Amino acid sequence: MNKRKLVLVGNGMAGVRCIEEILKHNADLFEITIIGSEPHPNYNRILLSSVLAGDADIRDIVLNDYEWYKKHQIDLHTGQTVTRIDVETKRVFTDQGLVVPYDDLILATGSLPVILPLPGADKQGVISFRDIKDCEAMIEASKQYKKAIVIGGGLLGLEAARGLLNLSMEVSVVHIFENLMERQLDPVASQLLQQELEKQGIRFLMGKQSEAVLGEERVTGLRFKDGSMESADLIVMAVGIKPNVELARQSGIEVNRGVMVNDWMETSLPDVYAVGECAEHRTGVYGLVAPLYEQGMVLAKRLCRIDTPPYEGSVVYTKLKVSGVDVFSAGEFMDGAETRAIRVHDEFSGVYKKIMVRDNKIIGAVLFGDTSDSNRILQMMRSGSSIQDLKRVSILENRSAEANSGNDLVAALSDDEIICGCNGVSKGTIVQAIREKGLCSVEEVKQCTSASRSCGGCKPLVANLLESVLGDSVVVSRKEPICGCTTLSREELVAEIKEKQLTTVKEVMFVLGWKETEGCSKCRPAVNYYLNMIWPEEHEDERESRFVNERMHANIQKDGTYSVVPRMYGGVTSPAELKRIAAVAEKYNVPMVKVTGGQRLDLLGVKKEDLPKIWAELDMPSGFAYGKAIRTVKTCVGSDFCRFGTQNSIRMGIDIEKKFERLNTPAKVKMAVSGCPRNCAESSIKDIGVVGIDGGWEIYVGGNGGVHLRGAELLCKVKTEQEVLEWTGAFLQYYRENANYGERTSQWMERVGLTAVQAVLQDSEMRRQLNERVDKALSVLRDPWQQIMEDKQASRMYEELPVLT
Ligand SMILES: Cc1cc2nc3c(=O)[nH]c(=O)nc-3n(C[C@H](O)[C@H](O)[C@H](O)COP(=O)(O)OP(=O)(O)OC[C@H]3O[C@@H](n4cnc5c(N)ncnc54)[C@H](O)[C@@H]3O)c2cc1C
Ligand code: SF4
Ligand code: SF4
Repeated sequence: MNKRKLVLVGNGMAGVRCIEEILKHNADLFEITIIGSEPHPNYNRILLSSVLAGDADIRDIVLNDYEWYKKHQIDLHTGQTVTRIDVETKRVFTDQGLVVPYDDLILATGSLPVILPLPGADKQGVISFRDIKDCEAMIEASKQYKKAIVIGGGLLGLEAARGLLNLSMEVSVVHIFENLMERQLDPVASQLLQQELEKQGIRFLMGKQSEAVLGEERVTGLRFKDGSMESADLIVMAVGIKPNVELARQSGIEVNRGVMVNDWMETSLPDVYAVGECAEHRTGVYGLVAPLYEQGMVLAKRLCRIDTPPYEGSVVYTKLKVSGVDVFSAGEFMDGAETRAIRVHDEFSGVYKKIMVRDNKIIGAVLFGDTSDSNRILQMMRSGSSIQDLKRVSILENRSAEANSGNDLVAALSDDEIICGCNGVSKGTIVQAIREKGLCSVEEVKQCTSASRSCGGCKPLVANLLESVLGDSVVVSRKEPICGCTTLSREELVAEIKEKQLTTVKEVMFVLGWKETEGCSKCRPAVNYYLNMIWPEEHEDERESRFVNERMHANIQKDGTYSVVPRMYGGVTSPAELKRIAAVAEKYNVPMVKVTGGQRLDLLGVKKEDLPKIWAELDMPSGFAYGKAIRTVKTCVGSDFCRFGTQNSIRMGIDIEKKFERLNTPAKVKMAVSGCPRNCAESSIKDIGVVGIDGGWEIYVGGNGGVHLRGAELLCKVKTEQEVLEWTGAFLQYYRENANYGERTSQWMERVGLTAVQAVLQDSEMRRQLNERVDKALSVLRDPWQQIMEDKQASRMYEELPVLT
């Protein structure tokens, strides 16, 4: 049978999702061609915010890699734009001369970002936030420039602002209205949101109308209609999107705001369909994936000649993807004459919830500070169920807090409740897939049902569902692959390396069937770490598999220069050392010498070619102020000098630092020793904190003073300094052997629990064995700076090393 020729214009989220559905229904029906303007395979646009915020890599957000297209015999043309459709001869033409005939044509050309027509808007440094190119431009700009303005206080603008803040830029958000996210939030929620984001460091200029972009070639600032000005090196316009309809319009297809479609996504021309942000359905144009996927599902069935109810529009809802801020909004949310509201505002815990009701039905909601009930409320909205018999406030009660655990909560949901809103996957579908296909990880559920494949907000619910279906067995079998290149979890990978005696990163990837032969930026350093940890004596560290700081043995700064941080054990130095540091700083014109938070001196702004010379002249181990390794051990002045000191914290700190320096760990490890419980060295927020007490020491673990502040927990009390070293060594090695690569002790402790760690370490034989293994690892570690200085070849190679970030 001759296959019908199906052409998709636009390799984005909605179009490709529709193709996935078609392949699921009938993979043999069509000969498929996809043409996309962007030079990438299909990726998750939603997660661009996470890439910008530093939580994901571009490679992590690919939804279907090139292999997928090949596997399904899809003819993919990336980096080409369809410029013309000849509706008479049924052919499409691209800007690069490609001509493709079609029997059925899907337009999924998405939207274009709105660029305000301000004078100067074409200057360098004015960009939008829509695709990978924009995201990369922002990351690049942050390396050179300091001040950013985001125009637009909507969802996208705020996510861009948070991302730029993470890239160390100063960020001001300019918004034309007095309330942020005015299309999703009421004034109370909007105020709460603004306060929270101000706390995080974003500045807001509200009620400001932009008039002109200032600067010569590159932007230097923004002028407003009220005459005021704001300086900036980068302006991100996030003021809205408009359906990308030009191609359709020029081809004689009926267009209003978007490409007009009926309930089966058919346009005004036969055999031409439209889905996604470019389509207009019953006057509605959507800018979120859930409705677009619903459209794609209907069209897929239609094209496969499967009976389907029509698409009748969608209930839209929004969640802001900014860490530390929980915001949810759905449907109608503003108070009106015909609506009544149920609201709770707890100013102590910063929680605000409002449910809008009309004719005893929920028609909208705004949740701030606690969004755990968003799925339930959304479900009630979608089903249009009457709330007449419910007690008013019980609708807003936090059932997750009431329930013993998340598992009880998901167990209480009915089968048709939607777990993943983006992809429209119900609890029943997931449970059925878990049972019938033997799924046992969130990743497998994602692959099989598409749940949590988009914004990922429902991942915890999917995990709870897995646990509630599989019971205790899931604790053993619940696994997350270390990255998308493999299905192996950390535990499985470590076991395979040991069992198959694998010794190099390449060998691991080859023998264990990596999907990408070279791996990715996430798994290469991790595999290298696990090999080092398992075979400390045999495995030769693979520098090319490390991140740039570790590869260069120096900390790369924003402007491409480096910093050199000579080690000062326990924060103690000497006049001779200080003189050497001063002489080096002078000789090499080091622009800044700064005391670090870890009690050392940071020589900032060093040129790459000067690094080996500076290390040689300093003659001190020169770094580990970066990378996944033991950092410094901060100390207070202790009993030698302090009136309150009960123990010699300086001595103890130096001993710990000298013993464990150079040790590689899953993530950075910061330590501190305080001479008494007054705790001047801040031991209670370190990965390992030691506190002197009368007659001994307390050892605290799992603290973190960074973005996710966490107090350390008391691991044990010991009497002697020798015991402090013994417990520290055992803890470090246990962490090295059991944490995921990249996982801080604080996250690891939260995952495994203090009691489990104590149970192992309280066994003196276990402590002995762990110390034996950590000593073995330490015995083969050499000072990398010394090595480079001794090896002329290495030092030459060093200068030639390409700097990859
Ligand atoms: C930073 C960001 C964060 C977001 N966050 C969320 C979120 O949290 N939740 C949510 O639901 N939605 C979110 N969205 C919106 C969501 O990403 C979009 O709704 C969705 O991607 C639209 O899918 P689409 O296929 O219609 O368009 P797109 O994904 O934009 O795909 C259209 C593709 O068509 C290509 N194209 C256009 N014209 C042509 C042509 N003539 N020839 C060939 N190719 C062409 C374009 O280059 C583009 O690659 C976010 C969007 C952004 C930018
Ligand atoms: S922690 Fe105690 S010993 Fe150390 S400086 Fe503070 S008061 Fe003195
Ligand atoms: S050292 Fe840490 S806190 Fe300081 S600027 Fe760098 S990232 Fe921020």
